[in-house]
Amino acid sequence: MRELPNDQLLRKRARQVIPGGMYGHGHAAMLPPNYPQFFERGEGCRITDVDGNEYIDFMCGFGPNLLGMNHPSVEAAAAEQRALGNCFNGPTARMVELAELFVETIAHADWAMFSKNGTDATTACLTIARAATRRRKVLIAHGAYHGAAPWCTPSHKGIVDGDRAHLLEYEYNDLESVEAALEEARDDLAGIVVSPFRHDAFIDQEMPDPEWARALRRICDEREAALILDDVRAGFRLTFGGSWETIGVDPDLSAYSKSIANGYALAAIVGNDRYRDAARSIYTTGSFWYSAVPMAACLATIQAVREEEAIAQMERSGTLLREGLDAQARAHGFALRQTGPVQMPMVLFEDDPDTAKVRGLSAQALERGVYLHPWHNMFVCAAHREDDIRLALERTDDAFAALKREHGTV
Ligand code: PMP
Repeated sequence: MRELPNDQLLRKRARQVIPGGMYGHGHAAMLPPNYPQFFERGEGCRITDVDGNEYIDFMCGFGPNLLGMNHPSVEAAAAEQRALGNCFNGPTARMVELAELFVETIAHADWAMFSKNGTDATTACLTIARAATRRRKVLIAHGAYHGAAPWCTPSHKGIVDGDRAHLLEYEYNDLESVEAALEEARDDLAGIVVSPFRHDAFIDQEMPDPEWARALRRICDEREAALILDDVRAGFRLTFGGSWETIGVDPDLSAYSKSIANGYALAAIVGNDRYRDAARSIYTTGSFWYSAVPMAACLATIQAVREEEAIAQMERSGTLLREGLDAQARAHGFALRQTGPVQMPMVLFEDDPDTAKVRGLSAQALERGVYLHPWHNMFVCAAHREDDIRLALERTDDAFAALKREHGTV
């Protein structure tokens, strides 16, 4: 009998010892059937699965790989710290160096605290806002993702009403809906949580209307509530100073994670002086929150992003990819909607109500060694060079041709 591929074998074993064989966003069951579940190694923008298939990767670990995998100066800094030690009874000097660097780098930051995951950081922002204002209501955008804690997980399984008792929803970029939620909040508004742009799954991305963003700032000022920017996904990919720096709106608190330590587990909560006392007053911690290796990796990541002009590099590669995909789609008779910043591409098809086309393109691209995502925004990293994008585009051109054979055109 022929052996199953390693990926299938691992899935089989996983089903015995891991509920459902997998959990959370990494579930390959939510992807076309040829997608691997398990990976073995990576270098730059290439990843290899457990069956030895290599892909040019446009998910970057759902964001953490900013400079590419195995980046020399980040790995050297991590190794140097690892030789000294990682988990002590308290932090190392790296924590202070890193907080200083965040305060210097992020326009609105007067202080920083560190944790492990984006959820830790967004949750702490809510706690700080409530501690500072002594109020309860928090506005969040309908459909936005802020993590997997009971207050924000997209699933309602195991969640009780009380977990979300004081959350009120608004629609992104829609002031009227914010005002309606404010009516409900009355004089109990602790804060407004907002993503730097709309990057919800399954739909087009949407940049923030600067007027709307300024209105949120004004509302928070008038009501002495916290404007909380969830920069977990976009942080350090668009700008260095906070993703709303370019539209001139300073949040009071912001949450970072994903890319800040180029793959090492780290999150950051940064805030201004108005929220310093509240940040000091809350109790938040974790066994690994002082660990030094990710902090050393983060220091090196920030330095490398600056020295290598990584953001400009991602913009160049992202533009090349977007223009290339657009031209190919048209040449093969398809129409794409590519939305959001070029370094965080969302690619959907016109006239594709059941997502069959975008799933078909992703499956065909995967077959040819390009890892796309059919319903989540993707990520370009600084290790995507012109050659990588051109090679990926050669393969996607074939993928479009195969899709045309499968589906006809629009
Ligand atoms: N906020 C946003 C915008 C995110 O994209 C994510 C992760 N996808 C989170 C929060 C939660 O981060 P984590 O998964 O690290 O807890």
